[in-house]
Amino acid sequence: MNSKKKFQQPQVDSNTVAELSAMLLEANKKLQTAERERTLMLENISHDLRAPLTAIRSTVDYMREKSGDGKEDIPAEERRAMLSLLDARTRTLEALINDLYYMTCIDSGREEFNFTRVPLAQFLEEYFFAAEIDDKYEDYDLELEVSEELDVFVDIDVAKFSRVLDNLFTNARKYSEEGSCITLGAGVEDGRAFFYVKDNGQGIPKESLPYIFDRTYRVSGARTPSKESSSGLGLSIVKTIVENHGGSVECSSELGKGSTFTVTIPVAK
Ligand code: ADP
Repeated sequence: MNSKKKFQQPQVDSNTVAELSAMLLEANKKLQTAERERTLMLENISHDLRAPLTAIRSTVDYMREKSGDGKEDIPAEERRAMLSLLDARTRTLEALINDLYYMTCIDSGREEFNFTRVPLAQFLEEYFFAAEIDDKYEDYDLELEVSEELDVFVDIDVAKFSRVLDNLFTNARKYSEEGSCITLGAGVEDGRAFFYVKDNGQGIPKESLPYIFDRTYRVSGARTPSKESSSGLGLSIVKTIVENHGGSVECSSELGKGSTFTVTIPVAK
């Protein structure tokens, strides 16, 4: 008996072919969107890097010109002002580059996620108590709305979730007047855990809300204190981290009244 198998053409009906083509088209569309987003991000970042760099370059040139051999040195007060300008602009660059690097590492999978099972209430309280004694928040009124009965565990990468809280707290402070209230709350609904960071600051215009989680998006005309830096990457980092935990983040906001960012994640089984 001949044991050789005959080649048989696989049976593929036209519906399967149509489904596969649709999937390919969809995947292609996603790739194109990702590519467009990346290009836009690079354009925006290059633009953002240029402004502080120009300020640094012209200050250094001016200082060098004024303090050349045989020239009178720059008066102490002027020198101090220049140093503080250099300091502020360098910080802006550092913040931008740090956020950009972090975002790229998460995107490329180089930044690993190490999940640990933790009680949500305890994790949030520890963050809150550390913020309470942090100088950055000394002019703000911090409130905790986490019930003692909140008794759920979540599987999270603790360092990355601390970054989520950092970014949300930093924004709450940046976009609110001194003396405003920042609230951290949490609960469980429909078997999912959630926590929120609420402020009563400047709020976000309705038309900007769909875009705030996009990379490098900033609300035009938003007031940021001059000593604060802004990369426009903070919320997209939050979104990426939360989605890597099978969760979601959303924002409700009213202009002039304040904003609430709510993060929802699965409860550990
Ligand atoms: P940035 O580094 O500019 O703060 P983010 O990605 O963190 O970037 O935020 C995107 C934009 O969303 C900000 O530029 C700001 O306009 C707006 N925004 C974020 N958080 C708040 C907030 N708590 N209150 C008001 N506006 C906010």
